[in-house]
Amino acid sequence: MLNDTSNIPEISDIPEATRETIAPKTASSFSVVRLGVAGVVIGVIVIAIIALLVRPSKQISEPVSQEVIPQQPDAATELPAESNPVEVEEKEVAATETEAETEAETVDNILGHLPYEQVAESELSPITADGSIRLHKAAANKFMEMQGAARNQGIILTPLSGFRSVEDQDYLFFDVKEQRVQDATKRAEVSAPPGYSEHHTGYAIDIGDGKVPATNVSPNFEKTAAFRWLEENAARYSFELSFPPDNPQGISYEPWHWRFVGDRKSLETFYKARKLKIDDK
Ligand SMILES: [Zn+2]
Repeated sequence: MLNDTSNIPEISDIPEATRETIAPKTASSFSVVRLGVAGVVIGVIVIAIIALLVRPSKQISEPVSQEVIPQQPDAATELPAESNPVEVEEKEVAATETEAETEAETVDNILGHLPYEQVAESELSPITADGSIRLHKAAANKFMEMQGAARNQGIILTPLSGFRSVEDQDYLFFDVKEQRVQDATKRAEVSAPPGYSEHHTGYAIDIGDGKVPATNVSPNFEKTAAFRWLEENAARYSFELSFPPDNPQGISYEPWHWRFVGDRKSLETFYKARKLKIDDK
């Protein structure tokens, strides 16, 4: 047992310790050497890389200096910012052009009323038995058709005014203006100046409710059965309200005033090349 115990520690302690300690030491020394060599190699490589990187860094710095030059073009892009005033000037030119256009458009109306040619007498056709009220033939036919359809439903559409000559309108505008002690602007809210009435075309008609004549040519006409019927059915006969509430011409709401737009000529009369920008009012 003593031998065993003495032998075991002697054998086990000395060789194992030396072997174990030496082997790691030698291994570590080898690894250190290897690491040293590798470090040198890596160092050389790193230096080489750094040497390579320095040149590219110079090359990069040169583009940087070139970027500095583009920074002057950036200042040149600030010049486009200065050229923005050119765009502004162009916009100003465009603005003046549109102003010129709106001026040209506003020249073409009086107090919101647009100019209309007076239809030839030969184009007119009566819509009342006594012939006192006439419309353009196409509009006359459609109105009487519409009037008949309304009558079948108990609605009496009474024509109050159709075609009016420029002379008729002259009286309506100026004489009535004086009678009512109105200035031109006030008069124009409810009546067109001569030469500027849709009634000149023969396509416009003022309609009343035959059962409620008190509402003739009155805003109250919109409360009548005739008006409600027209709202629902007039488009079937190509009649439309000329001056609805808040119309672009700035004319007072006229629920009694309808116009025919059921053929090419009438449509062109009211819609061709009309750029209404009469928002000044
Ligand atoms: Zn009218």
